[in-house]
Amino acid sequence: MKCMICKNVEMVKRELEEKLPASECTKCGGIWISANNYWNWLKSQGSPLPEKPENYTLKLEVFDSKQVKICPDCGHFLTRRKVGHGLGFCVDRCETCGGIWLDKNEWEILKSRNLHDEIHFIFSEPWQRAVAQEENRKAYESHAEKFLGTADYGKISEFKRWLEKHPQKSFILAYVKNQEL
Ligand SMILES: [Zn+2]
Ligand SMILES: [Zn+2]
Repeated sequence: MKCMICKNVEMVKRELEEKLPASECTKCGGIWISANNYWNWLKSQGSPLPEKPENYTLKLEVFDSKQVKICPDCGHFLTRRKVGHGLGFCVDRCETCGGIWLDKNEWEILKSRNLHDEIHFIFSEPWQRAVAQEENRKAYESHAEKFLGTADYGKISEFKRWLEKHPQKSFILAYVKNQEL
């Protein structure tokens, strides 16, 4: 099998994890996981591992390949989707057979957050809806920071975090809003 990025480079077999064979390009480091291999490995894993928080993310560089890719197993175009959850790259998957393409280091990074056993979910509508919400929230926050200035934004963020956990949240909000006092 030739690498779909480097074209003329033959991919080599690699045991990505125990019981998870994959093909790897020795030039770009891209990885192809055939659908059957992924499902079989998932079955051997039992229930999905709980997601780890953002600060667990492995700090490795990703060269997110953006070109159109064709599934080496069935010949259909791959679909590219954002991972979200604080990760800035996309992954590619064949929606026809379920095969997965990962660029160099993407597997390691997904694994550092326990998202490597949920790659198939990334392509689902609820996951992508959550990714869009996450992006909207970030855009809103960065707008607020620009509008208020970093110092005031910092104060308000701290206040918000404190308020979220406060048992008298509604009273405090009403108190702050009351102009007549
Ligand atoms: Zn390659
Ligand atoms: Zn396919």
